[in-house]
Amino acid sequence: MPGLALPSLLAGLLLLGGCDTANKNTQEQTTADKPSDSALQDSTKANLEPAAKGEEQPPAGKLPDGVRPKAYRLDLTLDPRQDRFHGQVEIDIDIDNPTDHIWMHGNNIDVTHIEALLPGDTGKQKAEDKIVAAHYRQMLDSGVVRVDFAGGVPAGELTLRIHYNAPFDKNLAGLFKVEEQGDAYALAKSESIQARRFLPGFDEPGLKATYDISLTIPKGYVAIGNAPEIGRSDVEGGLEKVTFAQTRPMSTYLLSLAVGPFDVVERPAIPANKYRKQALPLRGFARKGRGDDLKYILDVTPQMLRIFEEQLQRPYPFKKLDIVAAPQWPSGATELSAAITYREERILVEGDEPAPGLRLALLGVHAHEIAHMWFGNLVTPPWWDDLWLKEGFATWGTPLALTIMEPDGGHDLNAAVSAIRAMKLDSLASTRAIREPITDNNDIRNAYDAITYSKSLGVIHMVDEYFGADTFRPALGRYIETFADGVADSPDFYKVIGEETNSPQLTDTFRTFVEQKGVPQLDLTFDCSTQGDAKIRVKQKRYKPLGSPIQEVGQRWSIPFCMRASNGVSQCEFLTESEQTVDVSGGECPKWVMPNVDGSGYYRFNLKEKHWQSLLAQFDNLSPTERLSLIDSAFAAFEAGNLKPAVLTEVIRLAASADKRQVVEAPLSNLSKYTAHYVDPKQAEYWRAFLSKLYSGRLEALQQQSDADSQLLYSRLIGFLALEGKNQEARKTLRDKAEQFTGFRQPRNADALDSDLYEAALTVAVQDSGKEFLNHLIKVRGELDDPRFESASASAIGRVTDPAQLDTIHSLALSDKLGSREAFGLIQNALAEPALQDRNWQWLQDNFSRVVNKIPEQWRRDTPRFAAHFCDQNSLQQVQMLFTQQQKLVPGYERALAQTEEGINLCMALKEKGQALAAELK
Ligand SMILES: [Zn+2]
Repeated sequence: MPGLALPSLLAGLLLLGGCDTANKNTQEQTTADKPSDSALQDSTKANLEPAAKGEEQPPAGKLPDGVRPKAYRLDLTLDPRQDRFHGQVEIDIDIDNPTDHIWMHGNNIDVTHIEALLPGDTGKQKAEDKIVAAHYRQMLDSGVVRVDFAGGVPAGELTLRIHYNAPFDKNLAGLFKVEEQGDAYALAKSESIQARRFLPGFDEPGLKATYDISLTIPKGYVAIGNAPEIGRSDVEGGLEKVTFAQTRPMSTYLLSLAVGPFDVVERPAIPANKYRKQALPLRGFARKGRGDDLKYILDVTPQMLRIFEEQLQRPYPFKKLDIVAAPQWPSGATELSAAITYREERILVEGDEPAPGLRLALLGVHAHEIAHMWFGNLVTPPWWDDLWLKEGFATWGTPLALTIMEPDGGHDLNAAVSAIRAMKLDSLASTRAIREPITDNNDIRNAYDAITYSKSLGVIHMVDEYFGADTFRPALGRYIETFADGVADSPDFYKVIGEETNSPQLTDTFRTFVEQKGVPQLDLTFDCSTQGDAKIRVKQKRYKPLGSPIQEVGQRWSIPFCMRASNGVSQCEFLTESEQTVDVSGGECPKWVMPNVDGSGYYRFNLKEKHWQSLLAQFDNLSPTERLSLIDSAFAAFEAGNLKPAVLTEVIRLAASADKRQVVEAPLSNLSKYTAHYVDPKQAEYWRAFLSKLYSGRLEALQQQSDADSQLLYSRLIGFLALEGKNQEARKTLRDKAEQFTGFRQPRNADALDSDLYEAALTVAVQDSGKEFLNHLIKVRGELDDPRFESASASAIGRVTDPAQLDTIHSLALSDKLGSREAFGLIQNALAEPALQDRNWQWLQDNFSRVVNKIPEQWRRDTPRFAAHFCDQNSLQQVQMLFTQQQKLVPGYERALAQTEEGINLCMALKEKGQALAAELK
């Protein structure tokens, strides 16, 4: 490893030595960019050239206006069996003003030749183009490049021609290479700003252009691009050149360049319909030998595509649809145009029917990615601060499409659960607004959070419900039509939606929820002082838990508010003031009020204790989504210090006996937190007895039921009881399953465990079946070709509780036996396990640079979240110290650190209340 780093370090020093005029800031930055630790590979670091004195500083975020790419012609030789790739690109660009330099992107690319071609006089041939010498310099670690032109270039069109080569990445970023079962595959993960690792260009979502791509690859290999393949011809050296048709205008983050010995599964074309004139070719790709496992996803694809075309009344925008199951893909899935690429374990299904949890996840991710073909790919946000316009709408489109496919599938509840999960993050002072300026490349990835995805889902759902699908959805279709093949930001969206619906309140709702952080909290009080003229007073403010640093600054939202009272009437009011009064229909003083009809409002509510009691008496009469809203509001009120433990206990009991899976599961994450932090050893026994009493009977009943939701709930509850409740019966059941499935001291039984239970069962066995089981599991991991098992077993191994096994798991984490995502899972779980948290933390501190070097590059900024399970002052200080010392290794870490620190502080602030809750159960 040091041997690898040395040449790069030397090259860097030489460059620095040659640039003695570098100004202080840049020099500091450049020095900071050098690896401080020889364990860092040179392939992850570029040789930078600092700005000369007086030279314009490189843009840390968006590129300056005035330079736009129109077309790329890319010709690459990609042989996944090699360590590097090479080729050339020509980029036609428009320049608004004469200049001697432009800014573009390129990261760790060796440019061997660059020149600009200026068109000759109008009407003349290309051969008469004037060639201008150019110089290419990477200025920032994030891949910002300056290109200088000798003598300058005029305004107008020019073509950049660049010859280059670069290494295949080994940390799943950019054009990376993986080996599976002895075969090598090359895959491009471009989102967000990784295309610049394999393509010098203009790597911003708003800078769309057409692409003509040809790839020279090993003969007989498959190449997957964004457009249909139109030609293949032999090249010497056992290679062949594959040419693809020209794409529609497209952003760099959507580029697909996948090469390898993939299985190809051809399906009948999806027939033309009212919206699409041509039949659509459909194919699936999986690594060699796994093509049959694509059957399930390919079977559901035509129907899903049709649903989106019908809902949006717009055709699918591309000429083919490829579904790619990619080994070790770093994200769950990525919506590469017409070549949607998934982490293989998310979509490959052995046999005919997936386990229920896998099936739900598969359908969810697939619907999300198909929705992107319109939201993001056809209409694109110009910059990452408008990420919600693609991610929010794809997330919202998912339950919409799935509910049409399966009306009773509970997809509306899953959507409600997702929006409520976002409220947890949105309760922090350090949360983001859905739309917030992003001025630095290192901050881009932080926008991929529950706020962008799930809060957006909640807000869009609220608007759709309140203003009506008939108003909102046609306007959405019009927005897509208006900006097709182009870009649209939030103001563009507000404008079209406002004009089309003619509802200024609708636009105000979007604006106030999208541009402001936080969850609105509605406090309701009954005013029945005048006979026959009952009123409900509603105050709005930002939700704030105990210990929160959130300042009251009079934040206001435009809230579509709907309540239902005991008279059975639902009433809606548009709330814009800090306090508003709603006249109760009929004037009678209501016995109870449900302040969030159908749970479709993105807000929390609180009531006086007696009104909580009367609402809880109606729990069984509320709709399932209303119950989810109630449970969330009750926990939120408790954690803000505004609800007594006795009332919360009643909510927990009611949820446990509800009929819908999602309602039963709703309190589990809070209960896990309370179990870990607030139950002292003296209380542990009756706390566990309480949990067992809550769920054991239910678990037994579920065993008799065969429907998917019952099976899912069974998996979730048995895992919870075994791991949080330390329920011995549950642990024995899981341990037996894990031992049978892995063939521990017995012949292997592959049917003993379905994939939904992998992690819980393996965790229990790792903790209870001794050192022999751990060694056995590590061996079995290497033998089974089952990515879901590999991932779950890595996480389970992290949860060992015997200190004598720590050395084994620590060396495994950093070894080649574990992929980079799996290593992340192991370490994350090791730090979540209370028994050995401190020892694991010490190991992380001692090995931080090695850990960073092991895990996927796009997750490095999230390393502060390894500390998310701490709840004490001393640990908090250690976390702060570690990241003060090591911040250079994890650019963009600030957001994750701030949220982790705040989470630890809030956890400490709730201690007294949490202990009171545990005491309540005596
Ligand atoms: Zn997405």
